[in-house]
Amino acid sequence: MSTFYLTTPIYYVNARPHLGHACTTIMADAMCRYRRLRGDRVYFLTGTDEHGERIAQVAAAAGKSPQAYADEIAGAFRETWRRLGITNDDFIRTTEPRHRKVVQEVLQRLYDAGEIYFGEYGGWYCFGCERFYTEKEIVDGKCPDHQTALTFIKEKNYFFKMSKYQAWLIKHLEDNPDFIQPDRYRNEVLGFLREPLQDLSISRPTSRLEWGIPLPFDDKYVTYVWFDALLNYYSAVASGGEKTSGLWEHVEHLIGKDILKPHGVYWPTMLKAAGIPLYRHLHVHGYWSLGGSKMSKSVGNVVEAFQLTDKYGHDAFRYFLLREMNFGLDASFSEEAFVDRLNADLANDLGNLASRASTLIAAAGPVATVTAPVEAADREIATAAAEARAVIEQAMEEFAFQKALGGRSGPGSSACSAPSPTRWASSASCWSRSSRTRPGRSARRSGRVAP
Ligand SMILES: [Zn+2]
Repeated sequence: MSTFYLTTPIYYVNARPHLGHACTTIMADAMCRYRRLRGDRVYFLTGTDEHGERIAQVAAAAGKSPQAYADEIAGAFRETWRRLGITNDDFIRTTEPRHRKVVQEVLQRLYDAGEIYFGEYGGWYCFGCERFYTEKEIVDGKCPDHQTALTFIKEKNYFFKMSKYQAWLIKHLEDNPDFIQPDRYRNEVLGFLREPLQDLSISRPTSRLEWGIPLPFDDKYVTYVWFDALLNYYSAVASGGEKTSGLWEHVEHLIGKDILKPHGVYWPTMLKAAGIPLYRHLHVHGYWSLGGSKMSKSVGNVVEAFQLTDKYGHDAFRYFLLREMNFGLDASFSEEAFVDRLNADLANDLGNLASRASTLIAAAGPVATVTAPVEAADREIATAAAEARAVIEQAMEEFAFQKALGGRSGPGSSACSAPSPTRWASSASCWSRSSRTRPGRSARRSGRVAP
């Protein structure tokens, strides 16, 4: 039995869950269900990221304490995952004592080892992104993400000596080509690393921000976003209880490409410096767009996901998400595309196959041994089935759901040269050896739907 520990990003509680969150979480859920079916020991973690300037601001605007506000949004995420049938084993919140304890322990360890120093930094800061931008990243004097003016801030902060791990990380990526998948994202990280790596600011003064985990060695500062957020993957299983012992060495992360740099650069160097084993793989998916825009808090309300699952069912919705996106690339989401997939794949191909196969099985009745002669067509289909299994296992290893489901030369693809199981199940030779029933209307009735 192998062990499989998979995480989604923890979602920032500055907004309620949207369709983008749902897509990532459903992908992770499908992978965990697959691994459980294989008999693996599976641990599936998701959760919420609850500290930072933006949370303090939105809470204040809503007339709530940051904690009350975070409780409310974390509750909305939990409820969304329950309604979407997500099978997570744990839900971590960065405001929980179990997380705070681990963050402070790791920070103290790094500080004691001389990996963290106090220094001054001046730079162009975006309050929306809660980060500094380098000259190279600034577009027309504005934040490339928010298109708003940046503020020059000079302040004293604590820094993690990330720069000293640059050469080590490049070597690690070269020695472990599957550390970041698909390849394009590994190349992107190697691209970042062609520029000199800066040290990482890990604190904010409490004079500017109080809503965070206090640094254990200086209470006039709180931990800055990434040193708090990224550690959730570790803090959730670090207690070493029976349920979580031995999981960490098997950790795999699933993320969207917008947070590649923190996960592909900051996180491995943090782990290396803290003497914690690295994650096994980072799996990076592209963006979903809706009407041409990236799904975000303003686009793609999660209510739409509920409407679609209520109307067409959970499984159809999941099938669409997994089949429509080529893992790693961007994909676009529309109800029209969803219904097309449903009709073409589920109602016609797979639906018909399932229907014919079940009719065939019912017709054959309970048999101890097959006495009918095995024909060439049967041998072909048996070989194709065995091959399909191997293709699926390999595809799932790479998180290439679309391939496992028959896309891009997968087992059910029309471009595939393998014999078609649907054609076989409806062939005369197959039916002539089954004594009772031939496929009737019911077997062929298609479950086509209209939007
Ligand atoms: Zn910004």
